Amino acid sequence: MRNFSLDKSEIKPKYDVIVLGAGIAGLICGTFLAKSGKKVLIIEQHSIPGGYCTSFKRKGFVFDAAVHHIGGCGKWSVVGRCLKELDINTKFLQLDPMDSVNFPSFSVDIPAEIDDYVDLLKKRFPSESENLSSFFKEFTRLYRATFSTERHKMLVKYQDLTYKEMLDSFFADEQLKMVLSAQWGYIGSPPHEVSAIGMCQMLVNYLKDGAYFPVGGTQNFADAIAQKFIDYGGHIMLSSRVEKLLTEDNITKGVTTEKGDKIAADLFVSNIDPRQTFFNLMEGNAVDDAYLRKLETMKESVSFFLLYLGLDSQIDLKSLKRGFYHTSNSTSFSDNDWFYISVPTDVDSSLAPDNKQIISVVVSSRDYYDDIEDWAVYKDKMKEYTINYLEDIVPDIQGHIEVIDAATPKTLYRYTLNSKGAAYGWAVTVDQTWSNRLPHTTPFENLFLAGHWTNPGPGICAVVSSGWRVANMILDN
Ligand SMILES: Cc1cc2nc3c(=O)[nH]c(=O)nc-3n(C[C@H](O)[C@H](O)[C@H](O)COP(=O)(O)OP(=O)(O)OC[C@H]3O[C@@H](n4cnc5c(N)ncnc54)[C@H](O)[C@@H]3O)c2cc1C
Repeated sequence: MRNFSLDKSEIKPKYDVIVLGAGIAGLICGTFLAKSGKKVLIIEQHSIPGGYCTSFKRKGFVFDAAVHHIGGCGKWSVVGRCLKELDINTKFLQLDPMDSVNFPSFSVDIPAEIDDYVDLLKKRFPSESENLSSFFKEFTRLYRATFSTERHKMLVKYQDLTYKEMLDSFFADEQLKMVLSAQWGYIGSPPHEVSAIGMCQMLVNYLKDGAYFPVGGTQNFADAIAQKFIDYGGHIMLSSRVEKLLTEDNITKGVTTEKGDKIAADLFVSNIDPRQTFFNLMEGNAVDDAYLRKLETMKESVSFFLLYLGLDSQIDLKSLKRGFYHTSNSTSFSDNDWFYISVPTDVDSSLAPDNKQIISVVVSSRDYYDDIEDWAVYKDKMKEYTINYLEDIVPDIQGHIEVIDAATPKTLYRYTLNSKGAAYGWAVTVDQTWSNRLPHTTPFENLFLAGHWTNPGPGICAVVSSGWRVANMILDN
C-alpha cells in the first residue's frame, strides 16, 4: 500500500483550496487545481484514497471493494480525456463482451460495440427492428445532450420521464423492454422510477464509450490520480476525519479534524455526503432554511450486500458469465432480486496468485437500512443466500473457497460515510436528476459540491466529470 499521507509538520495553516474527501471526484478536482498552481489540501477519513473506488488484499487475492468497471476510458471519452489532460497513465482493459443479462427463462450477451448490440437485438426482436434504430438514435442524441452546458431541447424533452415511460413510447415487446432495463442495478432504481436521462447517461456511456477495468484493480486508478496530485504539489491527509466546517456570515473559513487540526482556506470543495456537510459538520451554523429542507426531503439511492470469494485454481467457472442474474421473469422488476456476478480474474489474472480465481457478487437488498437491528446476523443471512444462489450455477463452489469476505450497507457507510451506504448518492429518480439534483454551488459562496450527490450523477465517469467541472468553475473565477 502506497503512503500518500503528509507528515503533520508539513501541513500549512492555510491553503487556497481544501477538498473534503478523497473520492474520485475530490481527487480529480484537487489534481486539476494543483496542476493550475493552487495550493490544495485533500482531507480523507479512510487510510487510502478512492472512496468506493478502492481495493483490499487478503492472502494474495486483490478484491475491488465496490467499483467493478469504469465507463468512458477511451482516449476520446470523458475519463480518457481527463487522464490525458492530467498526464496520468493508467492501463485499462476493455470488457468484451461488455456484460450479460440473465433471466430464469432467457439470457442475452451484450457486445462491447453498440452497433453490434443493436444488430443482435434486431435479429432477436425482428418486429421491433425499426423501433430499435429510432430508439438508439434518440438515446445517443440524449447522451450527447447531457454534455452540453445549455438547456438542450433533448434534456427538456426527457427531463420528466422515467426510463419505463421512454421505453413504452418506443416498444411494444415486453421481453425487449426487460432486456433494455436489466442493467438498472448500475444506477440503482428500477425502470418505473429511474430517470430516462440518468439511465441514458449510464447505459450509453458503457455501450458507446466502453466499459474498462484498470489493470491490477480499481485502487490503481485512485492511486494514480493521488500520485499525480502530489506530483503537482498537492497535500493529502489520510486517516483524518473532518469534524467541523467553520463558517462566518455565509463564508466558510476553515475546517477542524477529529485529531484536533484546524486549517483555513479561501475555497472549499465537499466530495462527501451533503447531509453530513450541512447537518453534521455545520451543526449550529446558519444554513439557508430552504436548502436544508430540500436536503431533508431528498432520498438516498439503494445500498448493496457484497460477497468476495477467493477460490482455488481447480474450480471450473465456465458456466459463469459476467453480468446481472435476475431471479424472476417479472416484466415490472417489482418482485425480482438480482445478483451482479463477475469473475475479475477472467479480465486480469494478476488479481489472484497461482492461477486461482476471484468471484465478486453484488446483491440487491430489499431490507431497509434502519430496520436492520443486527448487522452480523444480516451479513450471515446474506452470505448464505448468495452462496446458495451461486451453488446453482457452480455446483461444489463451497469446496473451492480459500478466502471469503463480505460487506453490508453498514460496511459501505463505515468506509465512506455515505448515508445508509448509498451506492449512488441521491436516488436517480426524475425529481432528483439533472436540474433537480443539487447544483455544485451552495448557499456558502466559497463552498462547492463535487461527486455523486451532485451533477451529473453517480458512477466513476460522472464523478470524474463532476470534479473536473468544479475545478473549472473555481479556475474560471
Ligand atoms: C457496490 C458498489 C458498486 C459500484 N460499482 C460501480 C461500477 O462498477 N462502476 C461505476 O462507475 N460506479 C460504480 N459504483 C458507484 C461509484 O462507486 C460512485 O458513484 C462513486 O465512486 C462516487 O464517487 P465520489 O467521488 O462521489 O465519492 P465517494 O466514493 O463516496 O468518496 C467520498 C470520500 O469522502 C470521504 N469522507 C466522507 N466523510 C468524510 C469526512 N468527514 N472527512 C474526511 N473524509 C470524508 C470518504 O471516506 C470517501 O473516501 C458502485 C458503487 C457501489 C457502492
